[in-house]
Amino acid sequence: MSESAAMKALREEVCYANKMLPVAGLVTMHSGNASGYDPDSDLLVIKPSGMDYEAITPENLVAVRVSTGEVLTEGIRPSVDLPHHLFLYRNMPDVRGVIHTHSNYATAFAAVGRPVPLVLTAIADEFGAEIPCMPYTDNEGEHIGETILKFKNRAPSILLGNHGVFAWGKSPKSALKAAVMTEDVAKTVWLAMQIGTPKEIPAEEAEKWYDRYHNRYGQPGC
Ligand SMILES: [Zn+2]
Repeated sequence: MSESAAMKALREEVCYANKMLPVAGLVTMHSGNASGYDPDSDLLVIKPSGMDYEAITPENLVAVRVSTGEVLTEGIRPSVDLPHHLFLYRNMPDVRGVIHTHSNYATAFAAVGRPVPLVLTAIADEFGAEIPCMPYTDNEGEHIGETILKFKNRAPSILLGNHGVFAWGKSPKSALKAAVMTEDVAKTVWLAMQIGTPKEIPAEEAEKWYDRYHNRYGQPGC
């Protein structure tokens, strides 16, 4: 099957996002995965199951038809987390990149069933809310996807109780940023908890940071 130029570019970006997971310290061995979605082609590409990150190339990412779930790449199995990625693309219309990790500090909050509270301006900037923690959910069918949808707020990530993190964005790179920032702020809040009680930022103050970051920060079109 020949793929569009957009799909070739998506493969490059999803390959990059997967390779950055160990570089950013978000995964151990094979414990995370990244995908990207091209609605024009009705396709996503996702990390192959159990493959070393060094061995991932744009070409060996697994292509899957999003409307049917049909795996189009022969001889390479997709990540076992494919059903959750598919569910998020089907139910969150603006999402073009999804990442799953068990990154340590964020997963420590998930282990005790606690959200990452809104106690840093960096959390207000990127997430606009606490990073919620959903209850423990088994991995059958669409259970994880359904529970994410039920418990998510406007933050582009969520903690999965007793499990890890899902992060998403308007591209694989923005999902990577959300995954990296989730771990970074979880680490800072965990450190803060060793020396005192972190203080919540009032909602109206958080709104100012979120608005500035999302509407005025950076360069137009980036
Ligand atoms: Zn997992």
